[in-house]
Amino acid sequence: MNTRIPEQYVKSGKIAREVRQWILGNVRAGSGLLDVAEKIEAEIVRRGGQPAFPTGMGVNEVTAHYAPQEDEVGVIQESDVVKIDYGVHIDGYIADTSITITENPQYQSLLEATEKALQAAIDVVKRDKRIGEIGKAISSVAEREGYRPINNLSGHTVEQYQVHAGKSIPNLYAPNLPMLKNADVFAIEPFLTLPDAAGYVIEGPQVNIFSLIVRRKTGNKELDEVMDLIWNERKTLPFSPRWYSGRFKEGRLLFLLRELEKRRLVTSYATLVEASGKPVAQFEHTMAIDDGGLVILT
Ligand code: MN
Ligand code: MN
Repeated sequence: MNTRIPEQYVKSGKIAREVRQWILGNVRAGSGLLDVAEKIEAEIVRRGGQPAFPTGMGVNEVTAHYAPQEDEVGVIQESDVVKIDYGVHIDGYIADTSITITENPQYQSLLEATEKALQAAIDVVKRDKRIGEIGKAISSVAEREGYRPINNLSGHTVEQYQVHAGKSIPNLYAPNLPMLKNADVFAIEPFLTLPDAAGYVIEGPQVNIFSLIVRRKTGNKELDEVMDLIWNERKTLPFSPRWYSGRFKEGRLLFLLRELEKRRLVTSYATLVEASGKPVAQFEHTMAIDDGGLVILT
């Protein structure tokens, strides 16, 4: 491949594809949310990658940024629409992808419409690098299929150690957006919901994803140790307290993360929930523009 795309992106993408096959063969009604998240992360590590962010398990109206914690008791039901959003990184080069699964016949066509919207967006990028045209394609497929896109969630460019880099890729048409350019690596991720839904997400009560904003000494030994731990393992990539809480007394890590957040050294991501409580489906691929062509990494 004649590529300017770092090889690590290609490897991360390959792992993401293999893990998708693992999910399709293993996750079903009766699976525990925490168990699935942990096993996905283990499958990533087993193949030589690292999780790019905590595995998202979005059930029904829970749309994004819900990562099971140690006390998670949720189990997938046959009626559920479950968005599994996971990422792989190697040296900070990220492949971000998601699929939605359901055993509920009522929502099969919602899933199919969302997959069609992603495919339509990919077809557009092959011939047109204007970001506005991607959103237009997604929303027109949604409308044609009788659904609506979530209007305040977007795809995004990725850069090394940055899941959400400079450019957003909305799921609706918007004017005056930039173009995608050669060597851009980006994720497209339509979220579709029911036609009578509000069509946007609001913050829910749970917060279970964090990331470091910048590495700086605080003068407090305990806080500096947390900073060093996170920086060494994650740099600025999102992480789950679940990954590190075993090294702290119960509740201590969350307290320290809150302290770091007050000092603007750490940021947190609230769970995002469809405003009217309607189920949402999501499909996502990470891809790259390489000498004018499009390479689907995941
Ligand atoms: Mn994702
Ligand atoms: Mn994404």
